[in-house]
Amino acid sequence: MLLPDAAALYAEGPPTYGRAGLATQETLMSALASLEGAAGVRLFPSGLAAMTGAMLAVAKAGDDVLVTDAIYKPTRRFCDRVLTRFGVTVRYYRPSLEAEALAERLAPATRLLVMESPGSLSFEVQDAAAIAKMAKSRGVITLLDNTWAAGHLFKPLAHGVDLSVQALTKYVGGHSDLFMGSAAASDPALVGALDRAVLDYGWAVAPEDAYQMLRGLRTLDVRLARHGASALAVAAWLRARPEVAEVLFPALAGAPGHGLWKRDFTGAAGLFSIVLRPCRPAAVAAFLDSLRLFGLGFSWGGFESLAIDCGPQFEVRAFGAPFETPVIRLNIGLEDPGDLIADLEAGFEALATA
Ligand SMILES: *Cc1c(COP(=O)(O)O)cnc(C)c1O
Repeated sequence: MLLPDAAALYAEGPPTYGRAGLATQETLMSALASLEGAAGVRLFPSGLAAMTGAMLAVAKAGDDVLVTDAIYKPTRRFCDRVLTRFGVTVRYYRPSLEAEALAERLAPATRLLVMESPGSLSFEVQDAAAIAKMAKSRGVITLLDNTWAAGHLFKPLAHGVDLSVQALTKYVGGHSDLFMGSAAASDPALVGALDRAVLDYGWAVAPEDAYQMLRGLRTLDVRLARHGASALAVAAWLRARPEVAEVLFPALAGAPGHGLWKRDFTGAAGLFSIVLRPCRPAAVAAFLDSLRLFGLGFSWGGFESLAIDCGPQFEVRAFGAPFETPVIRLNIGLEDPGDLIADLEAGFEALATA
């Protein structure tokens, strides 16, 4: 960027270099701050960079970090490969552990407690308020990956969580064509820590991408309402299928985590998993391969419906696979839910004949 005169080159205050973001990024940060009810938000080039950036902003050598075993798999890889290399101890806890049980797992060196709610692939809901309160009383910082709720259906900061991170890549972008992440905090000291991390590591996001995210925010509410309503219709149909043992969708009445979801969330997102009754891997593959409307893909939060087999991702979990039979995750897009159900019905026919 260009400065107006020589005095401005080294003046305190306004930005003098574009890396930390100019008007478009500033506008997105302030829009996200009002979405999350935060004192400040910082942007990162991907959701993963926002998670790792928030951790690097607060962790130092000698610290202990407690992480939910239902954490997004690439975040775990960072914890295991990078944090440990810098002398940080990483320990995992069962996502079902409540605040009192987690309190017993804290060590004197514990600096950070990482939640993800609902958890990746297995969708456990955590009592974020109780956990944050317990952690605060012990001087431990809490961080929650809030991607499922898009910063909209659940407000971690209002529940006492210190850092709320989301992959804007998913619902805020909404079209599976952009990468970005955000980290939000209420405590000015933590906003300062995020700010220094962005500055020191050199993370930057393009103004064009920030503009696209701003545009995504304008339709986030109506898209989520459609994703959520369609997902509930598809999930209710799936629950009645003989091939399905359990539907892992906290927004569905009677599903695991529904009580906490009802207490804390203002709506349903469109991502959930189904646990199949025992069947061979070839039958799972036949089911996935026969789908026509559902694409096979890992990203989610976009307009198109997607499916993945979760099995291989459970292999890295510290406490083993949470289910003994195959688990399939579905991203319910913006298509007609009746068409999606017909696609899944054809999938079950393929599963039965495989
Ligand atoms: C996708 C995802 C991320 C990472 O986002 P990217 O922008 O793809 O790096 C982080 N957390 C969760 C829960 C995700 O689903």
